[in-house]
Amino acid sequence: MAELIDGKSVAEGVVRRVKALTIELMEKGAHKPGLAVVIVGEDPASQVYVASKSRTAKECGFHSVQHTLPAEISEQELLAIIGELNADASINGILVQLPLPGHIDAGKVIQAIAPQKDVDGFHFINVGKLGTGELETAFVPCTPAGSMLLIERVRGKDLSGLNAVVVGRSNIVGKPMANLLLAANCTVTVAHSRTRDLAALARTADILVAAVGRPEMVRGDWVKPGATVIDVGINRIAAPEKGEGKTRLVGDVAYAEAAEIAGAITPVPGGVGPMTIAMLMANTLASAFLAAGLKRPSF
Ligand code: NAP
Repeated sequence: MAELIDGKSVAEGVVRRVKALTIELMEKGAHKPGLAVVIVGEDPASQVYVASKSRTAKECGFHSVQHTLPAEISEQELLAIIGELNADASINGILVQLPLPGHIDAGKVIQAIAPQKDVDGFHFINVGKLGTGELETAFVPCTPAGSMLLIERVRGKDLSGLNAVVVGRSNIVGKPMANLLLAANCTVTVAHSRTRDLAALARTADILVAAVGRPEMVRGDWVKPGATVIDVGINRIAAPEKGEGKTRLVGDVAYAEAAEIAGAITPVPGGVGPMTIAMLMANTLASAFLAAGLKRPSF
């Protein structure tokens, strides 16, 4: 059976380290890292995410502010708030919870965030830095950054010579994940909905990352024996065995089958999921270190 990669415990370790480094930063005379989370509208899932981000920020000892804005707010007004946060020296990280209501251009809002405060890593400057290997100053999107940390726990930092297959090419997960693996010297293939014979391609992977959004699509016989399998997918499916109307979370990988073949695998829940918020804290801390003229800590 594969080693279970315990994302919950790795994420707790990251948060502990962020907490300790926050104290260190303040001892050097800098102000505490500040994270501003902006949420527009009443989407219940977004509210849960935002509450959890604000709670973890407080736990890390950050200055944490939350802007809860009405769904009818105009794009102009939202851009004005981003402008204020950009100019506010007590804020190191700005996160705009997506999705935004249809009348607001999310791309425009994201590009309005100062790149040095873009702790989600979605600004073109940060995307470009990651793409050109400027990892010392880039902010990398939190989910792939967290996935990479889990891979390193199993395989070490230098992945030279390993074949990596990333299934999914979104700007939030697949593409940045592929760039991180490339920067770590993997030979990387990015697969997507038009890829032919995905199962055969997946079987070439020493590191297989699934970021698709299709419940249990990756089967056990897609996995190369001994491979490291990172399941980014979070899918809620019906679970009639738990009772009528009940649901459960599954990943993009058929866990029980894949765990028999893989060398190491992340569970869902408890794998990549908890890493995302932890890496948001690590990025905000890094921004505060850089703002204070200090080298950013590595994780
Ligand atoms: P997305 O933007 O919908 O992208 C999905 C990707 O999968 C696309 O590139 C798509 O290909 C590809 N795809 C779809 N069907 C496919 C198929 N049959 N075969 C091969 N590729 C296929 O999704 P995302 O934002 O990257 O998220 C992916 C999953 O990760 C979702 O389950 C999401 O909930 C989860 N997620 C988790 C976290 C976390 O914190 N753990 C964070 C973000 C996302 P095309 O480009 O060709 O359409």
